[in-house]
Amino acid sequence: MGEFELIAEYFSAVGSKRSDVVTGVGDDGAVIQVRDGHDLVVTTDTMVSGTHFFANDDPRALGHKLVTVNISDLAAMGAEPAWLSLALTLPEVNPTWLSRFSAGIHETAEYYNCQLIGGDTTRGPLSLTMTAKGLVPRGKALTRSGAKVGDYIYVTGTLGDAALGLKLQQGLHQVSKKHHTHILQRFQFPSARVALGQALRNIANSAMDLSDGLYGDIQHILRRSNVGAHIDVQKLPLSQALKDSCDNATAYALALSGGEDYELLFTVPENKRGSLDVLLSPYGVAVTCIGRITGVAGKLELKSGEQAYSYQPQGFKHFA
Ligand code: ADP
Ligand code: MG
Repeated sequence: MGEFELIAEYFSAVGSKRSDVVTGVGDDGAVIQVRDGHDLVVTTDTMVSGTHFFANDDPRALGHKLVTVNISDLAAMGAEPAWLSLALTLPEVNPTWLSRFSAGIHETAEYYNCQLIGGDTTRGPLSLTMTAKGLVPRGKALTRSGAKVGDYIYVTGTLGDAALGLKLQQGLHQVSKKHHTHILQRFQFPSARVALGQALRNIANSAMDLSDGLYGDIQHILRRSNVGAHIDVQKLPLSQALKDSCDNATAYALALSGGEDYELLFTVPENKRGSLDVLLSPYGVAVTCIGRITGVAGKLELKSGEQAYSYQPQGFKHFA
């Protein structure tokens, strides 16, 4: 099978069939009709075999995750996802692998109403790069740079489950049978908080998604907004599965430094907290206030109730 047959077979009709795509896969470039009065939001993520996943991981889960991590970035910007491009480097043509991988992309792209509109296919060590594009009403994109002193800091969902799921998959941690599937799913099939991200457009001062762990990720908001923060570890939202599977210190460490939860972190000024509460009820996503933005630029203070909480982070940096 040549490159063109491969593209035609696995990547020519992936995701939703959107009416704003004039020309999709098959030409030199894709042509899309961009909606008036909107800004285009663009984001890219790469997953490399041996770094982000293992060569023998379920290809359907990889396809799902590749789409989700990109859509999660769009969600964090308050954007509505629309179009995807895929740059694929493969060591060989393996039809079983390709059909499962493309199925994972297809079902996830369809779920978020995105269409795959193009890409590139090359031979080499297994590497998956996706670019996602979305739309946001002009000037309404959420950023990391808008946090203000006094803002309340919120996170969606629960933290640390994906990191526990990774340990579980690697055989480094045991969890009871009751929680096994939930924890593994949170790592292998994460979701992106798309509807909530869009709903936060007129409420949050700043937002980002949590891919590398709260402790490291929040520093990006602090740096770009030139503010500080305090967080109460007792307020971190932990799933019952996580609490049942770890002692307190381990659970906090996973919630603070575990990656790949793809929850949203955002800050809300005092006078928008009421709107937030009203807004949240129909979204079915739990949101928890974990702390506040302070004026001490760059400083992140952890507390446990009234006491200081001492913590040595173990984040992951590619070039550290
Ligand atoms: P060109 O040589 O003009 O760059 P290619 O031969 O690389 O074009 O690609 C042919 C068509 O297939 C283009 O529309 C391209 O966007 C699309 N394409 C290539 N690889 C992929 C892929 N992995 N997923 C989706 N579309 C792809
Ligand atoms: Mg060309």
